[in-house]
Amino acid sequence: MSEFKLDFQDTATAFADKSDAELREKYRLFKMLNSPFLNAVGTRAAKFALALGLPVEGLIKSTIFEQFCGGETIQECDPAIDRLARAGIGTILDYAIEGRSTEQDFDKTRDEIIRTIERAKNDPKIPFAVFKVTGIAPLGTLEKISHKKKLDAKGQAKCERIHTRVNEICEVAHSLGQPVFIDAEESWIQDAIDHLATDMMAKYNRQQAIVYNTLQMYRPDRLQYLKDSRREAHSAGYILGVKLVRGAYMEKERERAEESGYESPIHPDKKGTDRDYNAALEYCVDHLDDLAFVAGTHNERSTQLLAQMMHQRGLAHNHPQIFFSQLYGMGDNLSYILAKHGYNVSKYVPYGPVADAVPYLIRRAQENSSAAGQVSRELDLITSELARRRLA
Ligand SMILES: Cc1cc2nc3c(=O)[nH]c(=O)nc-3n(C[C@H](O)[C@H](O)[C@H](O)COP(=O)(O)OP(=O)(O)OC[C@H]3O[C@@H](n4cnc5c(N)ncnc54)[C@H](O)[C@@H]3O)c2cc1C
Repeated sequence: MSEFKLDFQDTATAFADKSDAELREKYRLFKMLNSPFLNAVGTRAAKFALALGLPVEGLIKSTIFEQFCGGETIQECDPAIDRLARAGIGTILDYAIEGRSTEQDFDKTRDEIIRTIERAKNDPKIPFAVFKVTGIAPLGTLEKISHKKKLDAKGQAKCERIHTRVNEICEVAHSLGQPVFIDAEESWIQDAIDHLATDMMAKYNRQQAIVYNTLQMYRPDRLQYLKDSRREAHSAGYILGVKLVRGAYMEKERERAEESGYESPIHPDKKGTDRDYNAALEYCVDHLDDLAFVAGTHNERSTQLLAQMMHQRGLAHNHPQIFFSQLYGMGDNLSYILAKHGYNVSKYVPYGPVADAVPYLIRRAQENSSAAGQVSRELDLITSELARRRLA
């Protein structure tokens, strides 16, 4: 079978809708993020200033927020949605609120997530919705459930409210035929999230994949979990929805494991994560009778590999059960080039009040720091495009 290659270095396509000024701005930001010193100082200063109530929101909004978020409200995201749609890329509205803790906050967040699903309804520009269980549930309860700890009456009531909120979201998604992803989070609460996701899939994925669980392939146990989940779905008669990612909490996971004296639940090296990620892609491509899946990645090799596997199996680029996805402001070379070749591709477009988006922005900042062990591929691509436009 012939080799099939997409040219992800085609920066002219990747940045076609960026003006020279926007590209220069992007360069300045990624250059700053790439410096471990400026990155560390910037993220600490932002946290500190916000904690003190200093007026830094404007500065954050016009710099890093603008690069990685669509706006503060669903409506403010409209220009980003339209811009992506013009390139054939879908939007996934991601209400980026973290660290809330009251039952009223959780209800408000549930209502906002439902609004994103309603906004997506019948709009081909928004193929998926997404939510994090920690946005609608207390961490402590999720942890207790994950560790199979006995809950008192109050804990039991909280647990029931979590289930009700998750069900309310998935029920709306199902009634509107609008697929929804459930993000994966820290390993010590993930069992509770997996149970909820499995419950929802068994209920709402009878005809098509409406609910998608997320698997972090930096965990060595996840490949087997994927296979077990597929078998469970098959025997119970529902379609497995799965989003494959490498995992965003590696440092936190390792620190906690070390502090608490248990073995880290993360692969000891990147090679192991990459191997399992690619094996999971292959497993999914070979089990399309039972599942639909999303490759949530900025990794060029994995993306190329999936395109190659689809080609080898004679699968259409826009196969209705295979999706590619990246985050807004990152991996544009993948998103724009995949879209140009007719693949199903969408981007998470986070939105929400600036102060609430800070934990999300810090994760993106850390990912793009050279301290993360790699020279920023984003910076490389922007630099090439500036040179191609003779702006460097
Ligand atoms: C659309 C989308 C949705 C996402 N949803 C989630 C989600 O729900 N939950 C979540 O946790 N993350 C999520 N992420 C983030 C994701 O998990 C990764 O952090 C991010 O995409 C970087 O990984 P990569 O596949 O792009 O590739 P790469 O940049 O090639 O890989 C980086 C990743 O490899 C792993 N890694 C790096 N070094 C090592 C090492 N020394 N040992 C072992 N592993 C290592 C880590 O997972 C790291 O993030 C999402 C990403 C996208 C694009």
